[in-house]
Amino acid sequence: MIKVTDLHKSFGELAVLKGIDFQADTGEVIVIIGPSGMGKSTFLRCINYIERPEKGIIEIDNVKVDAEKCTEKEIKQLRLKTSMVFQNYNIFKNKTVIENVMLPMISVQKIEKEIAKEKALQYLDQVGLLDKINEYPSRLSGGQQQRVGIARAMAVNPQLILLDEPTSSLDPELVLGILDILRNLANEHKRTMIIVTHEMSFAKEIADRIIFMDDGRIIEEGTPEEIFSNPQNERTKRFLERFQ
Ligand code: ATP
Ligand code: MG
Repeated sequence: MIKVTDLHKSFGELAVLKGIDFQADTGEVIVIIGPSGMGKSTFLRCINYIERPEKGIIEIDNVKVDAEKCTEKEIKQLRLKTSMVFQNYNIFKNKTVIENVMLPMISVQKIEKEIAKEKALQYLDQVGLLDKINEYPSRLSGGQQQRVGIARAMAVNPQLILLDEPTSSLDPELVLGILDILRNLANEHKRTMIIVTHEMSFAKEIADRIIFMDDGRIIEEGTPEEIFSNPQNERTKRFLERFQ
């Protein structure tokens, strides 16, 4: 379970998140859509405190972090419950594929090297990269790098996986591959996921629930069917018209 209460984040004078209230059940796949620059990535980054919000409460299972009075220890506990897949892959260029997947297990979770390796192989198998384990990222395609990022995020066994535009810059064929991987993660492994995407067909396919964000707030939420076939809010309607 994840619960976010009245989350606020500004950059200087610019208020980006203006009071977000949000909740998701274990195993639920939430997709966030909305116009560019409206705070979607910032929201993801505040959930695991890569960005520090000024106000608001984040709860993941038994960990509760209140922005106005939290300790470093609580933030660390929160981070251990999440992992993030970044839009620009964010994998280490000077490490091989398998080293990239092993690294957070060894450095963050303090898992023994041999066990980390075994797990890394298991996750790399799931994303179809067993034949590339000793390659460096520069020799991989965009989709393959993205899959390394997903394997790495899964390997630490997080309660919550945050994915910021996981399919951007992939061609349609690779998008289907990522879709399969994420669907399998959600169904079989019961991982809760929050995914930001600009691809509406992908959103429709993967989401249990869609959230439309605009101007630092959640404007509307519902099942893919409700949001795409029968949006209630004028701003949601206007946004979705662009994709028809
Ligand atoms: P996109 O769909 O284009 O990725 P987004 O909804 O993810 O957009 P954010 O990246 O959350 O948007 O940015 C929201 C606003 O916050 C933007 O106006 C952006 O310029 C600003 N912003 C984001 N990060 C920072 C930062 N580190 N410092 C200052 N301003 C920032
Ligand atoms: Mg973004």
